[in-house]
Amino acid sequence: MLFASLWVGNSFILVFKEVIQMALTIYNSLTRQKELFTPIHPGRVTMYVCGPTVYNDSHLGHGKTYVNFDTMVRYMRYLGYQVLYVQNITDVGHMLDTGEDRMLKGSQREHMQPMQLAELYTRHYLRDMDRLNVSRPDIQPHASGHIPEMITWIQKLLDAGIAYEVNGSVYFSVPQYKPYGKLAGRRISEAQSGTRIDVLEEKRDPADFALWKKASPEHILRWPSPWGEGFPGWHIECTVMSIKYLGQPFDIHGGGVENKFPHHECEIAQAEAATGIPFANYWIHNGMLMIRGEEMHKSLGNYVTLAQAFEHWDPMVIRFFILLSHYRGPIDFTEEAIEAATKGLQRLTNLWQELNRRASNAAEGELSSQVKGLVDHTSRSVNESMDDDFNTPEAIAALFDMTREMNGILAGESLSRASLVYARDFLVRFVGDVLGITPPQETKQGDSDNTAGLVELLIESRNKLRQAKQWALADNIRDGLLALGIELRDGSDGTSWKCLH
Ligand SMILES: [Zn+2]
Repeated sequence: MLFASLWVGNSFILVFKEVIQMALTIYNSLTRQKELFTPIHPGRVTMYVCGPTVYNDSHLGHGKTYVNFDTMVRYMRYLGYQVLYVQNITDVGHMLDTGEDRMLKGSQREHMQPMQLAELYTRHYLRDMDRLNVSRPDIQPHASGHIPEMITWIQKLLDAGIAYEVNGSVYFSVPQYKPYGKLAGRRISEAQSGTRIDVLEEKRDPADFALWKKASPEHILRWPSPWGEGFPGWHIECTVMSIKYLGQPFDIHGGGVENKFPHHECEIAQAEAATGIPFANYWIHNGMLMIRGEEMHKSLGNYVTLAQAFEHWDPMVIRFFILLSHYRGPIDFTEEAIEAATKGLQRLTNLWQELNRRASNAAEGELSSQVKGLVDHTSRSVNESMDDDFNTPEAIAALFDMTREMNGILAGESLSRASLVYARDFLVRFVGDVLGITPPQETKQGDSDNTAGLVELLIESRNKLRQAKQWALADNIRDGLLALGIELRDGSDGTSWKCLH
């Protein structure tokens, strides 16, 4: 049992809260087995997930990663855990193994300052995540805002003798850190980052990785350090920012499986070599998203950004499609799979809408034992599935079973309001709160016609205001419509509008 405080009347009272969190098992990539989840502090979870490098628009693969982790956070909150969820924004220093700096490349491509680019794509990222109904992390630290902490951490590694400085750059000495490779199950000989000759010449061992890089003349983002002007390596930001906000060790570290090696391996090495304390207790890796059986690559011409996908499919269909597969597996994005997800989601939301509709004018009465039995059974079954390493496809299968049976009950008898609300509220809690599927909007007939008429009227008024040079009022109309999800576009042949939802 846990104690929780409640504000009742004028005073706090302590109440017992049943512990329903005991059965959650998680596949821990570090131990390569499913383990009963035991947080460091009972009732609380500290969780870090590697965020995006904001040099480009997010693609469908990002959608999968952040929907997967968001659903885990939502489920743990549903179980009663107080979750502190941190996800970083990489706005500096994401060097690829080839030595290419993603932020620098993006700013050259778009003729923007790196920070301008980071700001633009951070906004795009948040916009796309909002549309997928991914809850915002509790803390979203930017790498560029934590340079002093990274410098301090690098100094710690130098003091410990596990890092060395060459020509203004600092490298982590991998052969000196024996546990290196424990997460990915790789040997040091397989680790090699930085294929450029000059980088290889600086390193004592090809497996060593950069903690700090000396800035070349074209580098705009640079900071002073004890080793001269430069910028941090990519891996150090996650070690430093996760520990700063969550402590060491913390409970869960997550990220895409493509980051397991070398990124996560390096994060562990930096954290544990500096302090001798374990870094994160559970490592969760989610599988990749494939496009018609192939990995997504710009060079293959199958690269789909979330913004492009939303032009064709409802963001909730994409979220549901992602949840129809287990987070650890890869998923294949095909037209047929999206079609199937659309139909499946429709079945669930139709029931949800029907329960809503009937509940608004149903007669009072007892809660039907048949409905209670069905809902309670489904509730137990979805909890069991989610407790089993967040098995969303199995949970959704139980929801489909319930939908079929509930439709049968609704066809045969008129239920009391209590029964309809009991079933509806379960969908609100599980489909809405846990799976993050937003409830269907009730639309009355004629609504869309009225909307079109009203928007046209507002466009006309805005045009008159613009002719009268009343710019602020005209912008007010445009911004107000945008806040309602209607975007105005001014073109050579007048103003057109588009519904964003
Ligand atoms: Zn990371």
